[in-house]
Amino acid sequence: KADIAMYKAKELGKNNYYLYNPMLEKESYEKLKIQNELYKALEAEQFILYYQPKIDIASKQLVGVEALLRWQHPKGMVPPMKFISILEETGLIIPIGEWILREACRQNKSWQDQGYPPISISVNLSTRQFYQQNLISMVSSILAETGMSAKYLELEITESMTMDVDLASNILHELKELGVKVSIDDFGTGYSSLYYLKKFPIDGLKIDKSFIQDITTSHSDSNIVTTIIDMAHHLGLRVIAEGVETTEQLQFLEDNHCDEAQGYLFSPPLPANGSGHDSKSIEAFLKK
Ligand code: C2E
Ligand code: MG
Ligand code: MG
Ligand code: MG
Repeated sequence: KADIAMYKAKELGKNNYYLYNPMLEKESYEKLKIQNELYKALEAEQFILYYQPKIDIASKQLVGVEALLRWQHPKGMVPPMKFISILEETGLIIPIGEWILREACRQNKSWQDQGYPPISISVNLSTRQFYQQNLISMVSSILAETGMSAKYLELEITESMTMDVDLASNILHELKELGVKVSIDDFGTGYSSLYYLKKFPIDGLKIDKSFIQDITTSHSDSNIVTTIIDMAHHLGLRVIAEGVETTEQLQFLEDNHCDEAQGYLFSPPLPANGSGHDSKSIEAFLKK
């Protein structure tokens, strides 16, 4: 029974007891290591935003980009799945999230100032950020500071974040008052009530890529997707499909009146401007 001792994983938060096993210890150590490095990363300017085009399906025009966080660790690029949850658990998402929002707005305003036709910029919010006390004042002061108009900012939240219905509703109404748009990300993977979709002042639904993957081969997935599109349109919401990788998927979405698409078919997430030999950048998509 020696290895079934209980121990307190302090790094995972107070009051969390875990059954001891060597695998878990290894995992916690790894996590603690990442956590320590994350503390230094913001100051060391190791975070960078990549941007992925969003295309209007009917006109094939670029209508916006989604900002996606990248961590340029000295040993290589770390994908967000590896560290976003640690940022969330440690509360580091608050200062870093503020940096993300400011950087995204600054970049979009800079494109507008350079004479490119205006596009919208989408920024992902985490649960903790969505419920942070000063969210509204933070968003409005970043808009004022960067000079970017609220109508070009879209925030992406997930279904699970709206579980506290009354509070979520208040926050969403305040964001609407600011003129900021809000979409539900990864739609279909979480719990949502149709009643709240109608009640919440949101602008769009983003269908999760797990449904898009098999739309041309799976009847249930294609039915789910067409049902989401119809329902969203009846509620007056825009629909965007994420993870579009093939022309067949795009054709299906076009035939079924999906509004926008995003995915590797058009472009992976890219840096804002090309530098050096690796010069692929989002600016190639912005035509004056
Ligand atoms: P998400 O917001 O749903 O973003 C879409 C993810 O799908 C991105 O992964 C994107 O690179 C990837 N993707 C785009 N097109 C395709 C495609 O055609 N096929 C496939 N298989 N994948 C595609 P990424 O950048 O690794 O981000 C993963 C998640 O991390 C995001 O999911 C989001 O939940 C979170 N995240 C990323 N950046 C931020 C951020 O700045 N703040 C917060 N709070 N979360 C972020
Ligand atoms: Mg997103
Ligand atoms: Mg998504
Ligand atoms: Mg997703």
